[in-house]
Amino acid sequence: MGRLENKVAVVTGASKGIGAAIAALFAAEGASVVVNYASSKSDADKVVAGILTCGGKAIAVKGDVSNAEHAIAIIDAAVAEFGRLDILVNNAGIYEFAPLLDITQEHFHKSFNINVLGPLLMTQAAAKHLGEGSSVINIGSNITHMKPPGSAVYAASKSAIETIGSVLAKELGGQKIRVNTLNPGPTRTEGTSQIMTNSEMSQHIINDTPLGRMGLPGDIASVALFLASDDSAWITGDVLLVSGGL
Ligand code: NAP
Repeated sequence: MGRLENKVAVVTGASKGIGAAIAALFAAEGASVVVNYASSKSDADKVVAGILTCGGKAIAVKGDVSNAEHAIAIIDAAVAEFGRLDILVNNAGIYEFAPLLDITQEHFHKSFNINVLGPLLMTQAAAKHLGEGSSVINIGSNITHMKPPGSAVYAASKSAIETIGSVLAKELGGQKIRVNTLNPGPTRTEGTSQIMTNSEMSQHIINDTPLGRMGLPGDIASVALFLASDDSAWITGDVLLVSGGL
């Protein structure tokens, strides 16, 4: 019996990378999964097809997490298809780097809309469906720990999500809903492949990581599974760093 048997999960930004790995692992552990995506329908369909082939349950649902109506529609699709909601993974995010002089209002608002407003709207839409024992997992970043130059906007958005997680853990604790932040270190995904494949930066990261390699989506998914399952029943309002020691 899987660790998420009879549970229903929504994973945002699950057409690729970390979100796709989380969706596949949750489904393998028995959860019915909504694979949310913004525009990459064929990628999301592939993630769903992979889950169905392995005997799992999943549907793909398009929607922009930073749009309140879309957020409600994504959650409603989960409840309409699978009858309940137990787990929300706020994974959808963008990482655009810019040094101070290149920061624009557009860059700021786009980053904060998707990385901060998105999880707020999704959790707001989910809250009325989540019951005792439910888990909300926000995917932050170890950028809040490393704070490299050029990351002011991105790192600030991920700091905001850590703080929001701690506040919402208090607001939702009375309903026995847990809220945690999972902060991955550099992880090889579709989104980071350009900067992290055979580049000088990727070599720096590998050299500085005690375990001597780049993170992989599966490294993050297994910790998301822990946070989603009752194995972490006494953890809420917390931040877990998952970066191979970086
Ligand atoms: P990725 O490969 O770039 O994939 C991003 C995913 O988010 C895609 O599924 C994309 O959908 C979706 N998305 C983007 N904007 C969206 C929106 N407005 N509404 C709904 N979905 C949206 O990302 P990743 O590297 O796996 O990163 C996932 C999360 O981990 C992000 O929050 C990121 O900040 C965090 N993180 C990543 C790393 C890393 O090194 N990879 C490190 C630390 C933290 P479409 O495909 O349809 O566009």
